[in-house]
Amino acid sequence: MTKPSGQTVLLGAVVAASCLLVGYLLLAYNPSGAGAAADAHSKLTLQKIPFNGQRAYGYLNELCELGPRVSDTPAMSAQQKLLIEHFEKLGAKVRQQPFRIRHPETGQPVNMANIIVQFHPERRERILLCTHYDTRPFPDQDPTNPRGTFLGANDGASGTALLMELGRSMPALKGKLGVDFVFFDGEEFIFQEKRDPYFLGAKYFATEYAQQPPDYHYRAGVLLDMVGDGDLQIYPDRYSMSWADTEPLVKQIWDTAHRLGVREFVNNKRFEVLDDHIQLHDIAHIPVCDIIDFKYPAWHTQNDTPEQCSALSLAKVGWVIEEWLKLAVRK
Ligand SMILES: [Zn+2]
Repeated sequence: MTKPSGQTVLLGAVVAASCLLVGYLLLAYNPSGAGAAADAHSKLTLQKIPFNGQRAYGYLNELCELGPRVSDTPAMSAQQKLLIEHFEKLGAKVRQQPFRIRHPETGQPVNMANIIVQFHPERRERILLCTHYDTRPFPDQDPTNPRGTFLGANDGASGTALLMELGRSMPALKGKLGVDFVFFDGEEFIFQEKRDPYFLGAKYFATEYAQQPPDYHYRAGVLLDMVGDGDLQIYPDRYSMSWADTEPLVKQIWDTAHRLGVREFVNNKRFEVLDDHIQLHDIAHIPVCDIIDFKYPAWHTQNDTPEQCSALSLAKVGWVIEEWLKLAVRK
């Protein structure tokens, strides 16, 4: 993702840097009066949370053990195989959505693919949960080795791992709406900032949805990005809040977090974050909000490793999303 304020920054890159450099906007969004304190942390433990954060963290490790999952590499292929097998085993309908781009450095073709996982595919009205699953080619914000190894434990694996765990309860989900998980490739195939385009997979997915509409309709969507930070703090993003069709969705999710006592969903600030959700909203006209923890010191550095992430953070976000989903699919 890129990030905010005055000029537009990219989400992958924007957040950490921008949060610190650009600062955040102190705007009074306080729908329920809840969780207004900054740096709030709940006293929740893994034992108190029904979402299995420990298993999600195990998935995060499994993904990171593949190494960096840069688009069109053997590790990315291994990840695709792992995800397809995982979700097919759970009974989902899984397909790849391949597309091709030109490598920004060499001009050679690069094969990319989104993965679309459908639960209850017969339901025409659907909810979209998505994340990017590619990792940035280099840790270009690393103070010592910006051409070193970027593992993307939080930025790439955390949302993917969370959806792997959430998928286990999807077949039994009662409701009128179906649920799709979509894993976007090419969110940050960035070799040179400002030159190379972000959000390739989300843009392709949104354009296909708009130009060749399927026989189902997405009523709403949630994008998950960097949801595993051991020091979790999640603020609404300004784009989501500025879209009339999406603002109610943000309120529902933050109200759900408040109801559950997950105080890490802080509702008194907004960041402007450029991320995959912009493509989905602007091209496909799907109301989509971004669940992202911008304050992540290891952002785009070699330190974005499993040690920076925690089972408890994955449990908190997973629980909020699952409880919100139970309400959302009823209507
Ligand atoms: Zn990133």
